[in-house]
Amino acid sequence: MQFIDLAAQQARIAPQIRERIEAVLAHGRYVMGPEINELEEKLASYVSVDHCIAVSSGTDALIVALMALGIGAGDRVATTPFSFISTVETIALLGAEPVFVDIDPRTYNIDPQQLDQVMAEQRDRGQPIKAIMPVSLYGQCAEFDTINQIAGRYQVPVIEDGAQSFGGTYHGRPSCGLTTIGCTSFFPAKPLGCYGEGGACFTNDAELAKRIREIRVHGQDRRYHHPRLGINARLATLQAAILLAKLEIFPDEVEARDQAAQRYSEALKEVDNITVPHIEPWNRSIWAQYTLRSPRRDRVCELIGERGIPTAVHYPVPLNDQPAFANFAHRATPIAAQAAAEVFSLPMHPYLTPEQQSAVVDAVRAAAATANEEG
Ligand SMILES: *Cc1c(COP(=O)(O)O)cnc(C)c1O
Repeated sequence: MQFIDLAAQQARIAPQIRERIEAVLAHGRYVMGPEINELEEKLASYVSVDHCIAVSSGTDALIVALMALGIGAGDRVATTPFSFISTVETIALLGAEPVFVDIDPRTYNIDPQQLDQVMAEQRDRGQPIKAIMPVSLYGQCAEFDTINQIAGRYQVPVIEDGAQSFGGTYHGRPSCGLTTIGCTSFFPAKPLGCYGEGGACFTNDAELAKRIREIRVHGQDRRYHHPRLGINARLATLQAAILLAKLEIFPDEVEARDQAAQRYSEALKEVDNITVPHIEPWNRSIWAQYTLRSPRRDRVCELIGERGIPTAVHYPVPLNDQPAFANFAHRATPIAAQAAAEVFSLPMHPYLTPEQQSAVVDAVRAAAATANEEG
């Protein structure tokens, strides 16, 4: 069984993908070809924002967003320790300093109450937070109404790391359109993935959009004129072409993902020592990951693996414990540490069949029972 079955999706839309690729081969504009603009318009409309800027990866989306907001050396950015490395890596790469805020134990997203406390502490210490970067983990949006309210009081921007949540909604509003800038990734394994690297930034702020567009091309506003520092963060035209083909079936896949997740939760919610995902009633997760937790996680995953079913741990080490970030102030984040020790994800994609899911569910039940007996 595949953890994510990209072949099943490709089989469904192979002619459309081929047609889109052929079109790029025919016009030959491999960098910033017409598909980029077409994709940006469609994505902006999907997210209900004024501006979408396609970029070369989710990591680059975060970098150009931070650069556009002027975050740099010595600036402090509040973020979560429970995420993929990029969230904090990008902050650190720009010479800024991550300030870690612990998570909500049920959603695994940044805890707004603790964020509020950290904002006040940092201000009182004369080291104010300059930006907030929450992650919408596993496909469920963070608590953005409260986060935006806190950001408003401190007059700082919010960047949503929506690398896992493109396609999800918060109070009916699409992820990536909820904050100053929303960033996502089109890595193949993400809910909307291309066949290589890709990402995008979203904003309603025309000035920020202009800056992001310039930063994407070496800080250039017209040919060989560079008013600011930039990087090369352009999305390949071929990747945009593939995304345009995939976007056609994405709404359908959103439904299929949700149904698969409901089937898992229904079948697993009563299992001893297994906690199914908690989705707030106002959120619709895109289920980038279907993530359970168990106090005997490692043994449970081992037993599931013996049945030929893959699992994965997102993420085994909180970012504030990563050696690369050892030089930053270590704020204790016990909830994130416990989550890192207990979470594991099951195979999740829109083409999971009920039969495959039954096999997964049986394996989880049997593994949990054995692990419980072993004590
Ligand atoms: C995947 C991911 C990224 C990075 O995206 P890339 O396209 O791989 O660079 C950033 N943040 C989170 C939360 C992710 O899951």
